Amino acid sequence: MVAALTDSLALSGFPPPLIRRLVIKIGSALLVDPSGAVRVDWLRTLVADIAERKAAGQQIIIVSSGAIALGARRLKLPKGGRGSLEDAQAAAATGQIALSQCWASLLDERGITAAQMLVTLDDLENRRRYLNASATLERLMQLDVVPVVNENDSVATAEIRFGDNDRLAARIGQAARADAVVLLSDVDGLYTANPHADASAMLIERIEKIDARIAAMADGGSASGMGSGGMTSKIEAARIATGAGAHLAIISGKVDAPLSHWAKGGTGSIFVAAATKRARKGWLAGRLTVRGRITVDAGAERALGKGNSLLPAGVAHVEGIFARGDVVDILTLDGRVIARGLIEYDSEAAAKIAGRRSEDIAALLGEMPRSVLVHRDHMAMV
Ligand code: GLU
Repeated sequence: MVAALTDSLALSGFPPPLIRRLVIKIGSALLVDPSGAVRVDWLRTLVADIAERKAAGQQIIIVSSGAIALGARRLKLPKGGRGSLEDAQAAAATGQIALSQCWASLLDERGITAAQMLVTLDDLENRRRYLNASATLERLMQLDVVPVVNENDSVATAEIRFGDNDRLAARIGQAARADAVVLLSDVDGLYTANPHADASAMLIERIEKIDARIAAMADGGSASGMGSGGMTSKIEAARIATGAGAHLAIISGKVDAPLSHWAKGGTGSIFVAAATKRARKGWLAGRLTVRGRITVDAGAERALGKGNSLLPAGVAHVEGIFARGDVVDILTLDGRVIARGLIEYDSEAAAKIAGRRSEDIAALLGEMPRSVLVHRDHMAMV
């Protein structure tokens, strides 16, 4: 009880020492004012928060909505640009360019380099592309750049859209192995009932488990009518994030410098990730379609046991036909499955480099896209 309480207090504000990598999602209504202009003054206060956190060692990924809202007003499209798919796509294309310019220049004012990533649902569901997105985010983090991510709404068709950036933010958190995701919203958390309609509604500060009672508190659509995310998509996002081992918070973005406001005691709801490490890799261990089997020698078995990645040198043999990003089992010489992971090479290339040192890969394959066969971050011991 005491431990849980301490933990809850420590988590509040997602402080830099505790949360190394943070995804921040900003809803459309916070970014764009009703006249269709970007709320630059407010955004500048958020960027000041971001700069402060970066200086304290926190790595930041931004998931920014607002392209459709911004584009629709510029193009004078009805229904906020959401009347038809074509309208939404045209609005997104028009709004996105202005939105990225705005982020780039505000971050630049603070000496921060921005990078834009536009992704579709498919990019994060397809295993190969998921690995690519994950590797890109990792590299951007190493380069000390702040990625600004949005859904590629101008090409995604209705069936393959996330549709809301809440779930997108959670998936990006998963791909980036973030420690936490914060959704800046026009509501300041999860209430027991709709606070606008019910005066007795109470804010829930900490959610350990998303059960039917919690799910029932969601009210459906977006309150502002600008974005598409309501409490339902936020709870869905919380399910994804906590399942991947990241905490998720919903806080109000209706104040200046919303992150420091929250850190100084502002309200919000935190969905707590269960057992962080285990949960993050749980989805991997639970995957049913295993395409290949990689048998490793005793040295590699020891190295994996210590939490290292699997290098080609430790591989005795490779079985199965698989593509890069497929799930493979990793076995000991006596046939025991010890781990499961996403493989970085297809079966043909994996067989070629089995038993060889990482330095020889380029000569054998003509290229060396990755130095490891299965990265420890994409591997679960079983
Ligand atoms: N991707 C959409 C946009 O940039 C926002 C989706 C949402 O409302 O969450 O306009």
